Amino acid sequence: MPARMTHIPGFRGDVINPGDEDYDDARALWNGTVDRRPRLIARCLGPADVAAAVRFARARELEIAVRGGGHNVAGTAGCDGGIVIDLSAMRAVSVDPVERTALVQGGALWGDVDHETQAHGLATPGGIVSHTGVGGLTLGGGIGWLMRKHGLAVDNLVQAEVVTADGEIVAATAREHPDLFWALRGGGGNFGVVTSFRFALHPVGPTVVAGPVFWAAEDTRDVLRFHRELAGDAPDELGTIVRLGTIPPLPAIAEDLHFRPAIAVVSCYAGPVEDGERAVRPLREFGRPLVDLAGPCLYVDHQRGIDDTVPHGWHYYWKATDLTGLSDEVIDIVAAHAYRATSPRSYAAMFHLGGAVGRAPRDSTAYAGRDADHNIVIDAVWLPEEDDAVRAPETAWARAFLAALEPHRAGVYVNFLDSDDDPGRVREAYGDDVYRRLAEVKAKYDPDNVFHHNKNIRPSPPAR
Ligand SMILES: Cc1cc2nc3c(=O)[nH]c(=O)nc-3n(C[C@H](O)[C@H](O)[C@H](O)COP(=O)(O)OP(=O)(O)OC[C@H]3O[C@@H](n4cnc5c(N)ncnc54)[C@H](O)[C@@H]3O)c2cc1C
Repeated sequence: MPARMTHIPGFRGDVINPGDEDYDDARALWNGTVDRRPRLIARCLGPADVAAAVRFARARELEIAVRGGGHNVAGTAGCDGGIVIDLSAMRAVSVDPVERTALVQGGALWGDVDHETQAHGLATPGGIVSHTGVGGLTLGGGIGWLMRKHGLAVDNLVQAEVVTADGEIVAATAREHPDLFWALRGGGGNFGVVTSFRFALHPVGPTVVAGPVFWAAEDTRDVLRFHRELAGDAPDELGTIVRLGTIPPLPAIAEDLHFRPAIAVVSCYAGPVEDGERAVRPLREFGRPLVDLAGPCLYVDHQRGIDDTVPHGWHYYWKATDLTGLSDEVIDIVAAHAYRATSPRSYAAMFHLGGAVGRAPRDSTAYAGRDADHNIVIDAVWLPEEDDAVRAPETAWARAFLAALEPHRAGVYVNFLDSDDDPGRVREAYGDDVYRRLAEVKAKYDPDNVFHHNKNIRPSPPAR
């Protein structure tokens, strides 16, 4: 055995150490600006491995980071000098078509889930990029195309298997450990390592009406006002995201339009194709679109349609906020700032919330953004080799854009927070009451704050 190989008692997976051939690949995260060097990476094969890794780390007082899909923009799935509990080998998904549920391992990606569930014509609400992890996305809430019809990812979670800070394996459901189950649904990775999720499934597709319609940047104010009306009256089935930036160089788009400043409304109709065509028609007929790719397509294809515009390893920096509404003033601010980025890869995305998200009881889960009408994430994106020239102006652009929206801000989605966001923004994401309740559950399940490499909730027992 090479001297550097670490033995974790009771562990069957791979242990990767600095100097190993696969160390650099294993520690790399989606956001290429993050460069963390863990003391070791424990690539787990199942819950028993996760429990062994937690006990090993605690006995040696190693800092713990948990890696699901590795997508968090703040790079919380990595750490310097500690142990990464890496779930990337735990990606199995099994569907029960009778009960209409899917059992999903903690390191699965959304593409894994869609692949298996769509084989049965079923789906559960997840994210909009297929290489994002189920783990982090779900634990923060989980917004995506199906949420207005079927709720957030957390609204569809029926059970989670969790390895706690003591290395115990517990099942959390509405009946078993209900406090933990509530906290997991929005409170992030603070309460343990989720080794599997069971989600409710719904009939979706396999063909849906979906895709982007692009207009020239000059039309931004008109398109946003039009979208405000359309979204205001939209049936729950219609999910839309507005994307402001440039036209991405997708194969389906003529090359002479690539990187031209433009606004897009991307839609996905979670219902029959004929109804979907009727619902998106007004969008396709509005003004003079530069490109119209909205139409019938496979749901799985739509789910991976923008994967290549946000690949692993590029440099990313995000700023985000929830918005109470799209007033004329907000529209003016968005239109004024969206195209000031230097990099043609940067963009802003506005998710239309509401529908089932807004109707769920406020105390059903720890996700606290249900009153927001839209949220916006301002994504500065550049290539690693452009770092010297572009990092400073791009990050400044994102901060200035957010600052301009200050008077219209109303909370923030915790999964969109970046590493330089003030820690107070975690409390902003939850509001005082939900944060206090989360801190109490944290005090019960992780009083020593073992799981702190995340959007941290500090343990605080209830006042006597
Ligand atoms: C390209 C891209 C697209 C995105 N699209 C969406 C979207 O459509 N909707 C949306 O809601 N969000 C979206 N996000 C944000 C996303 O929700 C967060 O980045 C989320 O943290 C990603 O989860 P992950 O497992 O890939 O991340 P990781 O970086 O692996 O994990 C982030 C944190 O989550 C915790 N964690 C992860 N897995 C587990 C687990 N199994 N058990 C316990 N803790 C765990 C850990 O604390 C970890 O630090 C997107 C992000 C990217 C980069």
